Amino acid sequence: MKSFLRTRFIIYLLLLTVIGSFLFNFLLARQSSIMYKYFIERPTSYNVERAERLSSSIYQSFKTEIPSPAMENIRGFIEKYNEIPFLSINFIYEDESGAIKSVLEDVKEIDILSAEYVFPIKQGSRTIGTLLIYDINKEYKKGLEEYTHMLNIMRIFFSILLFLLLFILLYREYSAKIAQEKRLAEYQAVHDGLTGLYTHKYFKKHLETEISRSERYKKPLSLIMCDIDHFKHFNDTYGHLIGDEILKTVTGIISENTRASDLVARYGGEEFAILLMEAGAQKDGKDPEKRLKSLNEEVIEAAKRIKSKVENTRIAVSDQRSVGVTISMGISSYNGHPGYKPENLIREADLALYRSKNSGRNLVTVFDPVTKEFTSLS
Ligand code: GH3
Ligand code: MG
Ligand code: MG
Repeated sequence: MKSFLRTRFIIYLLLLTVIGSFLFNFLLARQSSIMYKYFIERPTSYNVERAERLSSSIYQSFKTEIPSPAMENIRGFIEKYNEIPFLSINFIYEDESGAIKSVLEDVKEIDILSAEYVFPIKQGSRTIGTLLIYDINKEYKKGLEEYTHMLNIMRIFFSILLFLLLFILLYREYSAKIAQEKRLAEYQAVHDGLTGLYTHKYFKKHLETEISRSERYKKPLSLIMCDIDHFKHFNDTYGHLIGDEILKTVTGIISENTRASDLVARYGGEEFAILLMEAGAQKDGKDPEKRLKSLNEEVIEAAKRIKSKVENTRIAVSDQRSVGVTISMGISSYNGHPGYKPENLIREADLALYRSKNSGRNLVTVFDPVTKEFTSLS
C-alpha cells in the first residue's frame, strides 16, 4: 500500500511538472514572439551617435526642403523620413483655435512629450511648429525592461503556483497516509494478529454493551466458548507453526459458520468466544423463554455444525501427513432479565466447556439458565 502511494505520488509529480513547464514555456514562447516582432527586429547598425547625427541632418533637410512650410509639404516630408528604420518623425503645431495638432494621427499627448530630439521650426521670428524625432531604440530598451520585469513576475507567479500545487499534493498524500495508518492502528487495536478475530479485550467490552442492549430490548443472546482439544500435544509434536495453522483453520471454519451479526473473538491461546444475538423476526412473540428456546436451537445447531466441520477437516503437517483436530464447546444463554452480569455468561459457558472436556472432549455442552442443568451433546 505504501509503495502504491509512493508510485501515485511520483506520477502526480511528473504530471504536474510536465503540465507546469509546458504551460510556462508556451506562455514564454508566445511572449517572446510578440517581443521579437515589436522590439527585436530593429536595425543592427544602430547606435546613439548615429541617431543624433541623423536627427540633426533630418532637421537640416527639413529646413532646406521646406522653405515655405505648407502643411502638405510637411506631411510629405514626415511620411518620407518616417521610413528610416530606427527613427520616428512627427510634427506638431497649433491650429487657429490654439489646439495642439499632430501630423501623425493617433499619437497620444504623452508620446508627443517623450520625443528625444525636439526642433522648433520658425518662420521669421514666429514659431510655426515643432519637429519631433523619436529614437525607436530607446523605446525598445524601455520595452525590453518592461518585458524582463514581466518575465520575472511570471517566473515568480509560476514558481509560487507550482510550489502551492506541490504543497497541496504532498499534504493530500500525507493526510491520506496518516488516515490509512490510523485506520490500520484502529483495526490492529481490536483484532488479533494471527487469526484476524476480535481481541479478548474488545469481546469483553462488546459483551457488556450487548448484555445491556439485551436487557433493554428483551432480546436473548448466547455465548459459545470453544477450546481446541489437546492443542499442546499438536504444538509439541509438530511445532508451533503447525499449531498456528491449526488455529487459522479453526478460525476459518468458525467464521464460515456464523452470521455477520455474530461476534467471534479469540478469547485466549486456543480458545474462541462466539456471541450470538437473536436475529430476524421474533418467531415466538413476546415470551422471553420461548424466544430463548428458539435462539438456543439455532445456537446448538451452529455449534454442532462447527464441531463437525472441524472434526472432518484435515490439516497438513508435512508433505505426506495430515492430522485432524477436535474442539470442545460450552453454551450459555441470557434471556434479557434485569440485573444480569456479563461475567455470569462467561462463567456459565466456561462451566459448560469444562463439562465437555471432562466428558471426553469433542462435545457441545449446553447450560440451561432456568433449570441450571448441563446437557452434553456429541
Ligand atoms: P485441552 O484439550 O485440555 O484444552 O488441552 P490443551 O493442550 O488444548 O490445553 P492447554 O491449555 O494445556 O494448552 C494450550 C496450548 O496452546 C499451550 C500454548 O502453548 C498454546 N498456544 C497458545 N497460543 C498459541 C499460539 O498463538 N500459537 C500456538 N502455536 N500455540 C499457542
Ligand atoms: Mg485452553
Ligand atoms: Mg485446549
